[in-house]
Amino acid sequence: MRGLMQDWPLTVDRIITHAARVHGSREVVARRTDGMIHRTTYEALHARSRRLSAALQRLGIGEGDRVATLAWNSERHTECWYGAMGIGAILHTLNPRLHPDQLAWISQDAASRVLILDTSFVGLIEPLRHRLPFEHYVIIAGPSEMPANSLDALCYEDWIAAADDRVEWGGFDENTACGLCYTSGTTGNPKGVLYSHRSNVLHAMMGMGKGVFGIGPDDVVMPIVPMFHANAWGLAFSCPAAGAKMVMPGGQLDGQSVYELLDSERVTLTAAVPTIWLGLLRYLREHKLQLPYLKKVVIGGSALPEAILRAFQDDYGIEVVHGWGMTETSPIGSIGGLPTGLADAGPDARIAYLLKQGRPPFGVELEIVDEAGAELPRDGETQGRLLVRGMAVAGAYFQGRGGDILDEDGFFDTGDIATIDRFGAMQITDRAKDVIKSGGEWISSIDIENIVLTCPGVVNAGAIGVPHPKWDERPVLFVEKQAGSDLSVDDLRAFLTGKIASWWMPDAFLFVDQIPLGPTGKVNKLALREMAHEVELGL
Ligand code: ADP
Repeated sequence: MRGLMQDWPLTVDRIITHAARVHGSREVVARRTDGMIHRTTYEALHARSRRLSAALQRLGIGEGDRVATLAWNSERHTECWYGAMGIGAILHTLNPRLHPDQLAWISQDAASRVLILDTSFVGLIEPLRHRLPFEHYVIIAGPSEMPANSLDALCYEDWIAAADDRVEWGGFDENTACGLCYTSGTTGNPKGVLYSHRSNVLHAMMGMGKGVFGIGPDDVVMPIVPMFHANAWGLAFSCPAAGAKMVMPGGQLDGQSVYELLDSERVTLTAAVPTIWLGLLRYLREHKLQLPYLKKVVIGGSALPEAILRAFQDDYGIEVVHGWGMTETSPIGSIGGLPTGLADAGPDARIAYLLKQGRPPFGVELEIVDEAGAELPRDGETQGRLLVRGMAVAGAYFQGRGGDILDEDGFFDTGDIATIDRFGAMQITDRAKDVIKSGGEWISSIDIENIVLTCPGVVNAGAIGVPHPKWDERPVLFVEKQAGSDLSVDDLRAFLTGKIASWWMPDAFLFVDQIPLGPTGKVNKLALREMAHEVELGL
């Protein structure tokens, strides 16, 4: 027997329509490329998104067509999302930090018909034009800001001003595709994850929940994590759904710029990868500043370093929410925090627990398995391959790339190695391809990095395994020092002694000017391996 409740398809256009009707005057603030602050409201953003839909339709775009964006977080980028998705087109976010060859490859694979881009990316796209599939280019600018270009591009403001807002939104099945985002392809070619309206709505609701980000109408949220990096972790959906004020930081993500917006807009919750926080914390310390309004910082994308957790908690009284996820999981997969049974734990035990990647919210299931696929115990010690299944988890890649990606129980192999404890809290020990295999045992590159990041004078660090004739692999640690620091290899060795098992001690330490970062702001291990290849390590 079927239930007798209303059929109310979970489509994302309903989110912005709700925000316009119920939280219409709530502000959306954005920093423009020239640094100017622009203010609008959900009501206006909704109306402009509808115009954008009509403008897309005039270009012949409809259900199933891909519309790509190459843009920083802004209110106009948000309009592109809702405008495309509202008419059943698929919004494809491109990551400007990718290599141009990858950008061209991804655009071809997605066969997107339109590219809407920030003025700052015109120079990146022009030389690639003959390798791109786009029929139309739209530059996000007003008429007076339009740069000279060879793309025959439309001017965003003129383009939407010429359209009206009488469009039909929704009306399609909730499982219709609405977003496309490619994994950054650190192993092989990037693969497209094709989100549905339903998965994005459910994911947005999951993100709003108290046990996850906990977003309500009185929050002021600044998504620093880019909209092209796993959907800004769902925040451009969760914020309007909750009626939270949204602050979009554009492309200036250095410590000072981030601080200024957090302070002037009285941001209560913000989210980004660890490298952003390293920059902000340094700036706060150097200028002896505080963050009186900020209550919560969401950190994910790579492991949360203890030094960052302690600094936010102890020096600034700000709660840190550690999240794990992947492009394939929309991305929320687990959220750190103390289980109620551990509320009385001592300070060090608390820290150790908060550094775990945490428990899956409702809608996500996690399991660890051995190489043969047999489930491993949830004892907090046994390490295995992490599998995931859930309501907003990829079931296949776009264009069938990678073939069948689910096991017979419908689980997806994350490529991460993890433990799960009796409370269900998961801890990533490494990515399967980054784990250092020494003498038949595993060394966690993440653990070494996190410990060395607490050493005074260290700005960033990356550990990799390099081939070794006797031990199979041995750890090598790359370290970026603070300017002017006289930290030596002996100092590092002394610092690590007693904090890691003796056989985990890196065989070589290499100081570098800058730790290379990948397109989503994580330590680029591939680049480190190439660098290690080029020096005589004498192992
Ligand atoms: P890519 O791997 O292409 O950069 P994702 O952003 O989808 O793209 O990365 C997902 C991976 O990032 C996870 O599989 C995991 O290895 C890593 N990751 C994400 N969050 C965390 C975290 N909190 N701790 C450790 N690793 C993390």
